[in-house]
Amino acid sequence: MRQLTFIEANTLEWRDVPEPALAGDGEALVRPLAVATCDLDKMIVRGLVPAEEPLPFGHECVAEVTEVGDSVTSVKSGDIVSVPFQISCGECDRCMRGQTGNCERVERMATYGLPIGTNYGGFLSDTARVPFADAMLVPVPDGIDPAAVASLSDNIPDGWRTVGPQLAENPGAAVLICAGAATIGLYAVGIAVALGADRVDVVGGKSWLRKQAAELGANLLDEEFPKRVGPYPITVDASSDVDGLACALRSTEPDGICTSIGIYFDETTPVPLLEMYTKGIRFHTGRVHARPAMPEVLGLVREKGFRPELVTSETATWDDAAEAVAGHRAKLVITR
Ligand SMILES: [Zn+2]
Ligand SMILES: [Zn+2]
Repeated sequence: MRQLTFIEANTLEWRDVPEPALAGDGEALVRPLAVATCDLDKMIVRGLVPAEEPLPFGHECVAEVTEVGDSVTSVKSGDIVSVPFQISCGECDRCMRGQTGNCERVERMATYGLPIGTNYGGFLSDTARVPFADAMLVPVPDGIDPAAVASLSDNIPDGWRTVGPQLAENPGAAVLICAGAATIGLYAVGIAVALGADRVDVVGGKSWLRKQAAELGANLLDEEFPKRVGPYPITVDASSDVDGLACALRSTEPDGICTSIGIYFDETTPVPLLEMYTKGIRFHTGRVHARPAMPEVLGLVREKGFRPELVTSETATWDDAAEAVAGHRAKLVITR
């Protein structure tokens, strides 16, 4: 089958590779129909993330089920599903606690299409193999465009976890998002608006991202990060910028909660610990646990007017994927 493969910075090519086959009764094979780029993909393509080459590419997709093992009961051939980017069994202690990004039954950080752990193959392929199909696959209901929710595998749940549980705990609270170039911040805007946040303010961010944030319902604050704004009960650092991180932390009100989706490759990134201590804020950083959030997010699309398609900035056809991925700027969705 054909598989889009990352070769080196700014270069991807289609390669012929063996088609995956079912390796157990609980597995499924899927044919990706709509694939989105993740915020991390842009960094990989530009050569900013250490990657073993060649790397099967793509880890966000909506797909059609093409074959299931004998013990699979939740999906059948022909179903349209979202495939979480993290491999998880759904049954171990961590999965039962919702910590599917750290499933005990697979290799650490086992994912599709990423150079961070065991790679189960990329979604820009004709076929992908899904272990633990009943636990992993999330049916996409009729009436939802696969292209609109192509990022349900990863970036949309990553946005949800920064504001969803927080607004459930503190309904109607105001939200501050320190933005950069990460589309996860845009999903957070749309989800916070859909969940009824009093207001969603965005500080910082690239100009194109600020424009999209406003379309999703955000109020735009300064383009540069001040030392602090607010305070806010819920803050989000989606900036991957030392000043944005500090602004989010300093803008969190006493006993408020700040979530950072940014990846800081510098181990010595400073944080204002004394202010965090005296105010008593909760700070969470870490990889998303995508799978448990996916049905929640689909509910917001169906019932609360959340429109993730507003985050999509570029589209391409399957045959143009190599060039489109190599040159993509933000949220690219590829369909066939
Ligand atoms: Zn990702
Ligand atoms: Zn597990």
